[in-house]
Amino acid sequence: MFGIFGSPDAAGMTYYGLHSMQHRGQEGCGIVTADDSGRLCCIKGEGLVHEVFDESRISRLKGSMAIGHVRYATTGAGVIENVQPFMFRHGTGDFALAHNGNLVNYAQLRSRLESTGSLFQTSSDSEILAHLIKKVPDRRKQPRIYSLIEALQQIEGAFAFLVMTSNRIYACRDSNGLRPLSLGLLQNGGYVVASETCVFDVIGATFLRDVEPGEIVTIDRHGLRSNFFCEKCRHAMCAMEYVYFSRPDSDIEGRNVHSYRKESGKLLFDEAPADADIVVGVPDSSLSAAMGYAEASGLPYEMGLIKSKYVGRTFIAPSQELRDKGVRMKLSAVKSVVKDKRVVLIDDSIVRGTTSMRIVRMLREAGASQVHVRIASAPLRFPCFYGVDIKSREELISAHHPVEEVRAMIGADSLCFLSEDGMKAAGCLSDLCLACFDGKYPTALHGANNKIIKRSLCAEL
Ligand code: SF4
Repeated sequence: MFGIFGSPDAAGMTYYGLHSMQHRGQEGCGIVTADDSGRLCCIKGEGLVHEVFDESRISRLKGSMAIGHVRYATTGAGVIENVQPFMFRHGTGDFALAHNGNLVNYAQLRSRLESTGSLFQTSSDSEILAHLIKKVPDRRKQPRIYSLIEALQQIEGAFAFLVMTSNRIYACRDSNGLRPLSLGLLQNGGYVVASETCVFDVIGATFLRDVEPGEIVTIDRHGLRSNFFCEKCRHAMCAMEYVYFSRPDSDIEGRNVHSYRKESGKLLFDEAPADADIVVGVPDSSLSAAMGYAEASGLPYEMGLIKSKYVGRTFIAPSQELRDKGVRMKLSAVKSVVKDKRVVLIDDSIVRGTTSMRIVRMLREAGASQVHVRIASAPLRFPCFYGVDIKSREELISAHHPVEEVRAMIGADSLCFLSEDGMKAAGCLSDLCLACFDGKYPTALHGANNKIIKRSLCAEL
């Protein structure tokens, strides 16, 4: 998710911004600009950023203000109407919004809104905010931000939202700070807001600060202003942002992602040393942890696996069939490196176990004499309700099998995971969402009939 205010080439900058965050979603993307007369214009489509946009499409998006989005579907079907940003025409002024995360009380809010006449255009949870904003009674003398505050107070879950009107952008984060959102300064004094700080280097902006949990930052011709829509806030950032999702050159709440992963690799060695010859990381998100493990162990770090640059992530692909094909196409073992070697294989996580099983087999077929698997996060046992595609316990191998059984299933000589304490210690973090590891969710969860499920989940999930 990306927004920019005060750039003569807002659409072009948004293109580069979205391109730098392509790893966050590959199903579709879009850009909405606001021109000098305040008219909003939207172009979006299914596919990668460079597939949806070319020079001619970018040139049609006029104005110095824009928001953009890359889609990674967790709620709503992967169809064009669910590609963001969403744009709304309304008598009180047009606006657009983009959302990163997932709203846990979406179904309840939607049925309530539909019962009072709202007509939804998409099956995405993100559209709900627009309806809530416009359902707030119009108190003419009240600044518009109060409608946004009242709307945000009704939604629960993980969110970073960008809302763009004809003359300003609002950047908002949920009260637990589950999803990242950072502010940057352009060289010409304009502002940029993005899910990842790696974008700032690409477009020549400097990091200013993170949007705080529970905060709304208003960006307009007067500069930046801050409001809070809740009083009790936490810094429970999603652990998977550090472990897997974000780019290593991004900083999340002051911690560089590469440094976090490298430290997690060092702690993993402290917790689970292996008698081996070389350390090999699964490209790309596990390479930093492999470097840390190698440094701490004194073992050589080797390029034992090569990834094809032209195949997307397996975890992020929307179906199992696509994920299976993706693994076969994208990784190969380097025989001359692993032959007759005892390999420590570092991976960031084990979800279904199928990828780990294939990689272990691939290394053995390439001649590795032993494969010791070390995972730079704790066993994944619970689903995520906050926008990462871990939908049910059924698909999580560690939810149903103890570590020794998982080891046997993936065919490794040994298997160890980093502890949850180690995951916090890697970033010197006292608070972190670890719900998919420990089942302790930072928000209430809503089941059928609007029944609120306990935050600490029991086995039924
Ligand atoms: S449950 Fe897991 S994936 Fe979801 S937000 Fe929390 S740490 Fe991230």
